[in-house]
Amino acid sequence: MNWIKDLTKKLKPKLENLFNKKSTLPDNLWTNCASCSNIIYREDIENNLYCCTNCQEPQQILPRKRFEILFDEGTYEELETPRLSSDPLNWSDISSYKDKVKKARKKFNQRHAALLAVGSINKMQAVVYCMNQKFLGGSVGIEEGEAFVFACKYAVEHNLPFIAFPQTGGQKMQHSAFALMQMPKSIIGLQMLEEKGLPAIIMATSPVAGGVTASWFYGPSVFVFAESENTKIMFAGPGVIKRTIGEDLPSGFQTAGYLLKKGFVDRIIHRKNHREELSNLLSILLNLEIKKAEDTTDAAEQNTVSPQQIISA
Ligand SMILES: [Zn+2]
Repeated sequence: MNWIKDLTKKLKPKLENLFNKKSTLPDNLWTNCASCSNIIYREDIENNLYCCTNCQEPQQILPRKRFEILFDEGTYEELETPRLSSDPLNWSDISSYKDKVKKARKKFNQRHAALLAVGSINKMQAVVYCMNQKFLGGSVGIEEGEAFVFACKYAVEHNLPFIAFPQTGGQKMQHSAFALMQMPKSIIGLQMLEEKGLPAIIMATSPVAGGVTASWFYGPSVFVFAESENTKIMFAGPGVIKRTIGEDLPSGFQTAGYLLKKGFVDRIIHRKNHREELSNLLSILLNLEIKKAEDTTDAAEQNTVSPQQIISA
């Protein structure tokens, strides 16, 4: 039976090689639409501003991708935000929160869940604050909150409009009360913009939840937009509400389309129209400000026109 042993010896490496041979094709050529579940060629979705080619639903994207498709020629300046503690309470559950932050920083090449950039949208310069829900749930802690106020201050100092793209699970429970403090702080930031007569736009991208819904969207004179009718905007999740009130929730509950009808959202602007519609709106608002400044000797004392007054005009 030696011949069998010899044959096995010869064939074994060849068979192993055959079955272990890895495909030379990259494993990320295809992706699933989060809305219609269709399988789409990744390159097609990238060429469609990261929207599904079947149902046109905008897919979740990272902040730098957002900046690339929003700003003219994809060029922008990324602003460094204040460096604060990422773990003030020395939080630990199944692992240390510091370690989780460290891993997320390495994975996404960003310090916390928000990135800040300045650039032009159809030649209209703006400060843009953009969140990454994949960075530890996009939760708002000390650094994300401080970055929001820093962005508002930067906009005021440079006389620029402000646009935020929230994408978050809400306040960071690992920062406890420090995270809750970011809610009134963000309102103060938006108040600073209003006092200077500068537009503030909140463009919801799915999902937005918790303290961000309960603060940014109530800022003075903010425009509340969403990039899709299906964008999820909520405080508590639907399961929590259903269990609390013991009733079925209405169809489309907590979607931007539903909230548009209820008056919470001002307008749905699809991602493909962001550059055109945002720049048009900003040019209208800022031109009005210039005209008002010409009519008064003391521009600092002028009463600014509320963005809501303009949009409803
Ligand atoms: Zn789809």
